[in-house]
Amino acid sequence: MEEIPVKVAVRVRPLLSKEILHNHQVCVRLVPNAKQIIIGKDHVFTFDFVFGKNSTQEEVYAVCIKPLLVSLTEGYNATVFAYGQTGSGKTYTIGGDHIASVTMDERGIIPRAIQELFHHISEHRNINFCVRVSYIEIYKEELRDLLDLETSVKELHIREDEKGNTVIIGAKEFQVECADEVISLLGSGNAARHTGTTQKNEHSSRSHAIFTISICQKQSAEYQKNTDAAQDPIASKFHFVDLAGSERVAKTGNTGERFKESIQINSGLLALGNVISALGDPKRKNVHIPYRDAKITRILKDSLGGNAKTVMITCISPSSLDFDESLNSLKYANRAK
Ligand code: ADP
Ligand code: MG
Repeated sequence: MEEIPVKVAVRVRPLLSKEILHNHQVCVRLVPNAKQIIIGKDHVFTFDFVFGKNSTQEEVYAVCIKPLLVSLTEGYNATVFAYGQTGSGKTYTIGGDHIASVTMDERGIIPRAIQELFHHISEHRNINFCVRVSYIEIYKEELRDLLDLETSVKELHIREDEKGNTVIIGAKEFQVECADEVISLLGSGNAARHTGTTQKNEHSSRSHAIFTISICQKQSAEYQKNTDAAQDPIASKFHFVDLAGSERVAKTGNTGERFKESIQINSGLLALGNVISALGDPKRKNVHIPYRDAKITRILKDSLGGNAKTVMITCISPSSLDFDESLNSLKYANRAK
């Protein structure tokens, strides 16, 4: 059987202490051993992976991400998205922020993947690895280079090279030698994410953040001497994507500039949903995949579908006050299956 190109996970976070304090009720439960989730009285959804309120960061990493890291080292591209309304646990799960302050157990996906990658590298001395990172934000359909704020929007262009690889012309890529270097770049990118913006959460909930680790590997010269066939270098990359909040416009009552902003953000999420859904279509060989509809799907084109491995983690609040948004997120995720 052909592999499904996109796997879909759902993660329900626990009630936060302030929600408990305000007596929020829980409206989501898991069906034991069934990868199913029930919201409200009777909306049942089935996904590839379902994580409940007691799920650990380690578990999410081991189940969803480890296989992607393995395929990265085998030369395939990989992408993980966190989708969901603001406050549902996207950043917590992806692990892109507050890296310095969280405990080891609470570290999310990015630091775990970095650690495992460098562990892999240290165990394969016969291969020369080159590791580079970049960090891009999409805000109102414009790109920002979080590793170099001097780069203006107009200098960044998404292009496809002759081999079909997507590249962002003008984006800074830093070559790194160890996990700590990556973590420190991630930290400075996060700081940049919030500069020039008035309210930190406002901004980050309205932009997509794409942290990318690219690797290139070739047999070391010494190793090649002892083997007949010289191998071409293998390049692959892993995108970690903290998507903009999926909450709809109506609820926040946005007007004017804010309203336009929400529409643009939703157009990215909409385009992404359409691409993922087209990829999951059994007749997809004949189906047009609408990558060109948004910046996010253009950037990820070579890392979604084809030989690439993709996991979408839909994050959900358990509170009954968030019922509408959670139901919407589950419907979106369901379309992606
Ligand atoms: P988002 O990025 O979707 O806006 P956050 O990741 O910032 O949401 O999460 C909102 C709050 O919930 C944060 O305080 C975060 O620490 C907490 N949180 C999210 N997911 C979990 C979880 N699985 N376990 C414990 N706390 C969580
Ligand atoms: Mg966030």
